Amino acid sequence: MALVVQKYGGSSVATPELIRKVAARVVARHRAGDQMVVVISAMGDTTDDLVTLAGRVSPKPVDREMDMLLASGERISMALLAMAIQDLGPRAVSMTGAQSGIITDAVHRNARVVALRPERVLAELGRGTIVVVAGFQGVTADGEETTLGRGGSNLTAVALAHALNADVCEMNTDVDGIFTADPRLVPEARQLAFVSPDEMLELASSGARVLQSRSVEFARNYGVVICVRSSFNQNPGTLIKETADMEKVVVRGIAHDVSDAKVTVRHVADRPGIAARLFGALAERNVNVDIILQNTSEAGAVDVSFTVKEGDLGKALETCQAIRQEIGATEVLADSEVAKVAVVGIGMRSHPGVAATAFAALADAGVNIEMISTSEIKIACVVRRADVERAVRALHQAFHLDQAT
Ligand code: ASP
Ligand code: MG
Repeated sequence: MALVVQKYGGSSVATPELIRKVAARVVARHRAGDQMVVVISAMGDTTDDLVTLAGRVSPKPVDREMDMLLASGERISMALLAMAIQDLGPRAVSMTGAQSGIITDAVHRNARVVALRPERVLAELGRGTIVVVAGFQGVTADGEETTLGRGGSNLTAVALAHALNADVCEMNTDVDGIFTADPRLVPEARQLAFVSPDEMLELASSGARVLQSRSVEFARNYGVVICVRSSFNQNPGTLIKETADMEKVVVRGIAHDVSDAKVTVRHVADRPGIAARLFGALAERNVNVDIILQNTSEAGAVDVSFTVKEGDLGKALETCQAIRQEIGATEVLADSEVAKVAVVGIGMRSHPGVAATAFAALADAGVNIEMISTSEIKIACVVRRADVERAVRALHQAFHLDQAT
């Protein structure tokens, strides 16, 4: 008997029929002898629809009320799934984030898990009950409802898998697993059997949309093994786990992200403390900055460019404008026609020349590189958004990712 935490994404529970299918899948596993905790996302595009709805009522809704609103999406699906399971025979009970013991800090819309108290979940499992948990939400020690950031049902699943010491944390989704690149862009992309946690973290934060990066980080920190697989078949999927010969593969995959935007602050004074002031102000407003580029000084001034999520562009521009005179800048420019492509693989640590190969491939494809950032296991480039497909294909080919290793 294994203790299984399964998460189903929004597209897997988008309709009543799909909810009944998920119920049948869960019940089959339960009948085979496993203890089941099922973390569920909101149906289909419910969360997006709720965000839109709020925008039609209020131009700047308060984060606390947004959490009250958004948490309701997962509560609809948890109750419906519990009903569908009960109809098939087994005992089932649905629980909110609070009832399942997900305790968070008070940062609304992006709360962090601070404690896990899954006593009620454990008690129900002990009675042979299938426990259905509303993903994406928690509660503060003071009883305030919070949400865990977009894609946060993944984090709920990983956190519960850790707290319950589950045997496996399965992410059931609308794709078969993790691929060497997005198969919609690269038809010859291959599904990977294994991806290391470090690689998955870089892939997720570089735009691979299958897993929320915070959940990958949590899983890596606490040693939770994640399996990404399809809700619609029984294929084994991809395991996020270290294997012995991982470093033999130089590049595991290519990720891309078209949700970035670039800000350029022109003619900033070239003296100590300016970068601290600029990026300090952005941090204060909770704007996450990704890649930063500063050119060489000319006549005591430099241009500073950085990328942010497109959704944060408004806040980033406001912040820069507010301190523009103080840091001696002449103007602040925005560019949302950018995209990021990233080459990821832990084998890079011990294989030189990966950057050169990547840059040559982009050059041959006629793709101009606007910014570069690297880590030990990643090379990321900012390019024109119109070039992103060509860039991903060129990189996939240059590293022979279509060929099995
Ligand atoms: N429903 C939330 C979202 O769409 C959480 C999730 O699906 O994981 O972001
Ligand atoms: Mg969703």
